[in-house]
Order: sequence, then C-alpha cells, then structure tokens
Amino acid sequence: MALLSRRFLARGPRHRIVIIGGNFAGLAAARALSTREHHVILLDQHPQAEWLPNIHELLSRRKTAAELQASRQALLQAWGHDFRLAEVAAIERQQQRLITTENERIDYDLLLLATGSRAHDHGIPGVVEHALHPRSVAQCMRINNALTRLAALPSGRDVVIVGGGLEGLEMLGEILQRFGREGRLNLHLVEQEEKLFARFPGLHERLLTQMRGQVQVHTGRRITAVQADSVQLDNGRELPSRLTIWSAGRRSQVLASNSGLARDNADIAVHASLQSQLDARIFAAGDAAALPFALDKQAHYAQTMGTHAAANMQGLLQGQTLRDFRPLHKPSLLAFGDRDGIMFFERQAVASPALIALKEGIYQYGIQGWQPRGRGLLRLAGQLQRGMSELDLWKLLLNSRDSTVFVQG
Ligand SMILES: Cc1cc2nc3c(=O)[nH]c(=O)nc-3n(C[C@H](O)[C@H](O)[C@H](O)COP(=O)(O)OP(=O)(O)OC[C@H]3O[C@@H](n4cnc5c(N)ncnc54)[C@H](O)[C@@H]3O)c2cc1C
Repeated sequence: MALLSRRFLARGPRHRIVIIGGNFAGLAAARALSTREHHVILLDQHPQAEWLPNIHELLSRRKTAAELQASRQALLQAWGHDFRLAEVAAIERQQQRLITTENERIDYDLLLLATGSRAHDHGIPGVVEHALHPRSVAQCMRINNALTRLAALPSGRDVVIVGGGLEGLEMLGEILQRFGREGRLNLHLVEQEEKLFARFPGLHERLLTQMRGQVQVHTGRRITAVQADSVQLDNGRELPSRLTIWSAGRRSQVLASNSGLARDNADIAVHASLQSQLDARIFAAGDAAALPFALDKQAHYAQTMGTHAAANMQGLLQGQTLRDFRPLHKPSLLAFGDRDGIMFFERQAVASPALIALKEGIYQYGIQGWQPRGRGLLRLAGQLQRGMSELDLWKLLLNSRDSTVFVQG
C-alpha cells in the first residue's frame, strides 16, 4: 500500500474529505473546502484538468492543448490540498474506503463523486474499436492527426460525424473552418432525428445554409454498425468512412454502478442536497449526479454543483441541515466554427456569428479560475485580447446583421 504524503499525515485529526474526479465539479468543490477544518484529497486518473467546452477548437487549431489544460497538482497545491494521480477501481462503502487500480487504499469520512461521464456506444458493434470519441484533449489530438493525414490523400477522404447535437456540430464547424474552403474532405453528418434541433423550426435550414453544400447530411438515420473503413446505416446503406467521429451521447462511469450507488450504468441518484439517496456519507456533483429534477449536463452546472456539495459536506460535519441545490439557469452556446453561433435558452434559440466571440470570452474568463495564482485583471485582459485576435472580429460583426431568433415549436 502506498503511503500518504507526509504533509497530509501531519495535519492531525481533521475530517477527511475525498473527491474522485478533478474537472469542473471536483475542482470547484476542492476550491471551496477549507484547509483549516478538513483534510482534502482529490484523485484523478489524469494529471491535467481539461476545458471540454472548447476542445473542438483543437480541430481548427484555434486552440492548442496547453491552452485547454491546467495542472491539477499545481491547483490543489495552491489551494492547500493533496492531489493523487490515481484511478479509483472500487469503493468499499462499509469500510468508508477507496481502492485504486494500484491497490492503494484511502479512507474517507465524506466522499464526493465528480467522475463525469463517458461516451455511449448504445451497444452498436464496432463503435469502441473503430470510432473516435471527442471527449478529451488526447482524443481530439488523435482526430486532428487523422484529419491531417486524410486531407493529404489523393482519394478516400471520407469522414463521418455521428450525432448532430451540440458536440457533433461544434466538431463539424471546426473541421469546416480548417478544411471547408479547399474541399479536401468528404464530410458526412448522421443524425437520427428528422431535422437538426427539430424543436426550433427553421434552425435546421439555417445550419444547412451555413454548411454551404460542403457536408452530406443524413437525418432520420441511425448507425447500426461501424467498421474500420465504413459505417452501416439502418436503411442498409453503407457510407465509406476512413474516420468516424462518435458524438452520440453520454453515459455514467462504471464506478458508480460497481459500488452499488447507481443501477445499470445510470447516474448517481442524489437528493436535491446532492447527497446520495443510498449513502449519507457520499455526495455526487456534475455530470455524475442524477438530480430529482431534470438538468442539462453542462460545465457551469457542474461547477456550481461542486461548490454546493462542498458547502453541504462542511455543513454535515458541523451538524447543520443540508440546503437544496437550486441551479441558476444559464444559456448554452454552440460555436459552429467561424460561420455561426447559436445560443439556446429555455424556449428560444438565437443564431448570430457574434455569439462565437461570446463563447471565446466565456472560455477566457472561465479558464482564469484554473490558474493557481487567481485572477489578475491585467492577465485576464491580455488573454482575452489574444483569444479574440484569433477570431476575425470584423467579419463576425458584419455577418451579425444576419441574426435570427427561433422559437420552440
Ligand atoms: C465535446 C464536449 C463539448 C462540450 N461543450 C460544452 C459547452 O459548450 N458548454 C457546457 O457548459 N458544457 C459543455 N460540455 C459538457 C461539460 O464538459 C460537462 O458537463 C462537464 O465536463 C462536467 O464536468 P464534471 O466535472 O462533472 O465531469 P468531467 O469534466 O467529465 O470530469 C470528470 C473527471 O473525473 C475523472 N474520473 C472519472 N472516473 C474516475 C476514476 N474512477 N478515478 C479517477 N478519476 C476519475 C476523469 O478523469 C475526469 O477528469 C461539453 C462536453 C464535451 C465532451
């Protein structure tokens, strides 16, 4: 069994709060927990936190990997907590103990699961073996390399993107930004609904216009199998595909169901306080949590859930009544490469290229929170200026005369 760090052991008999997962929810929780009152230890299987809402920009090369990552070790150290690079294999709830894949055992008084989610293959043969899932910087870099290789080939440059939701369209938009003008790739988009964002009449047609005939869109079609160089559609048609990008949904991590906290790969059922419905010593936040009410799986909700879980865990240890999590609803933003931006909020969607700049601004502001030394106004202004200079702001503003509001049908 590996030993805990000397600094960690020297902290005395304070309660030990362990967090599994160090991205939006886990980092927000760690940041909110007091070092005076608690031993906080955060575990993640990867050393770098990743700003997932902008990872599609790796495909157009508008962002580098380093611009989307932050060192978990540096952040946790700056906040006075311990970081452990480890994958948790099991939770022994009776013993209040975790076991890592390296067979290290770590005891906890309270545990927060902020383990996020993973790609859903829907049991379709060949997805795991042959498709790439753009859910991490490493996977997007693989996609990027594959696109570069394909674009250089004399023929057989077919790319299939599966899933016409937010994530799939953001990937497609960046690919169009980089390769659209030269027409070096044969791009296909497959979506099972009859129209893209069907609940907003007219939005499908706007997106098709923005694709400028450079994408073959197959709506109302499901994929039934993925092979190394093709995909099979449910009407029997086979599309050639040298690269299949799978953006067709998410599901929970196996750790929750293996530990008896969730059934059949579902998310962890929590009360509105974010405390597990099955174990009072365990909380869940972010994508991993299934709340008693519907809530989109979004980074900003994950962050506020993490902060809320931290407050309730501290409250529980002090014998206080737990408070319910009440999300402040925020819009979600889709950047379709350098061609369009769409903001969804409740029953409306607004499309305008100017929204691409808003998404960049949110990223620049948000990623400052992952700087170990806090937010310097000057540094923030400098970053923002640099990020914006990557965008053709004049073009965005001029095209923004073409803004439209779509109302849910
Ligand atoms: C391509 C893409 C685009 C997106 N775009 C947007 C957007 O525009 N706006 C928006 O708000 N949201 C967006 N999202 C959703 C957003 O990224 C998620 O809601 C958010 O990342 C959830 O945060 P989280 O902390 O709950 O989980 P995650 O960010 O998934 O982090 C979970 C962490 O847990 C770790 N972990 C998991 N299991 C274990 C284990 N057993 N042991 C150790 N560590 C473990 C993982 O390594 C990971 O670091 C997007 C997501 C993707 C994939």
